Amino acid sequence: MIYGDWAATSPVAERVREAMIPWFSEKFGNPSSLHGRGQEAKAAVENARRQTAALIGAKSDEVFFTSCGTESSNWAIKGSALRCLAEGGKRKRLLVSAVEHPSVLRACEALAVLGFQTERIPVDGNGVVRVDILERMMEEDCLLAAVMHANNETGVIQPVAECARIAHKHGALFLCDAVQTVGHIPVDVNALQCDFLSLSGHKLSAPKGIGALCVREGIALFPLIDGGGQECGRRGGTENTAEIVGLGEACVLAGEELESGEAGRIASLRNEIEKALVELGGVINGGAVPRVPGISGISFADLGGENLMLLCDLYGVCISTGSACSLGHGDGVSHVLRAMGLSEEAANGSIRISIGRETSRSDAEEILRVVKQCVHQIRSTHG
Ligand code: PLP
Repeated sequence: MIYGDWAATSPVAERVREAMIPWFSEKFGNPSSLHGRGQEAKAAVENARRQTAALIGAKSDEVFFTSCGTESSNWAIKGSALRCLAEGGKRKRLLVSAVEHPSVLRACEALAVLGFQTERIPVDGNGVVRVDILERMMEEDCLLAAVMHANNETGVIQPVAECARIAHKHGALFLCDAVQTVGHIPVDVNALQCDFLSLSGHKLSAPKGIGALCVREGIALFPLIDGGGQECGRRGGTENTAEIVGLGEACVLAGEELESGEAGRIASLRNEIEKALVELGGVINGGAVPRVPGISGISFADLGGENLMLLCDLYGVCISTGSACSLGHGDGVSHVLRAMGLSEEAANGSIRISIGRETSRSDAEEILRVVKQCVHQIRSTHG
């Protein structure tokens, strides 16, 4: 089995697994306990906080551990809305890019019951947010704007800092979902100028079930999970020590690999796959603009992406159609590709190949060989 779906989730790195093991066994203390065993766990959590903060250019007291990227973004959005309501604020509009992950889009839309209104900022044909339109949409009634760092279906990188500047000019908060970039390209919260940044462990070789929200200093945010005062009283619940340690180690590993040029190696394998698939009639979604190194969204207008993905699976290659958690409109068409203006055929014929730190040259060649074979097979059976 060759794995070509790293944007859906990544395998836990060996080094991360080893760092976590003692925290499942002999080092089982509760970080809130004042005795030695508890303080040992607390020190490990605080070390992981420093490691996570270092990867994104934040201060360690700006990093709060959560269960996943979805929780992080939900917290930023709903915590900001609750705070606005509690303070009698008048800002009731939420502006989100049309290509956001469902964890942002749906979290905003769910706030309709509390009187908040969500509007989508359009993207161009490459999937890049229309900053000029955001500028026109943004007014003093906007509570929060959200623009992701890179899209999970196309890998397209967004002009986050420009969008944040516009939001701040009008007194709005700014959230950046950086789940697909942290650990894959350099991420710096100061350069991005966001108030909140979401990240997720399982996209950077830590396990599923751990994430973090960076809340910049001075930004007030209501908790969504009230409890025993953990995470400085901002997120209750006994800390998931082992996975927090795993996330910290994964951040150190990612930092080392970013230094050693791993992103360049991945991008060149990705480019070789793309070149061959374009020769086969594929079109790279967002191919004309900067993207994260490992993600490739490709459309074949003359065949079904789902058929292609399933056939590749039969031959032992895991890829994806568009996205593993797409926001369908009842017809299964990706909201991202729809927002980019792809035809129905091109959107339906779309696959996502995503590679990562363990993808070797021979893995990439095998992915390409199987995808090509399956494209030919589907074309020959459908005439
Ligand atoms: N945001 C983006 C861009 C994603 O790709 C994903 C997962 O696919 C998420 C958020 C959700 O992260 P998690 O699975 O940790 O909840």
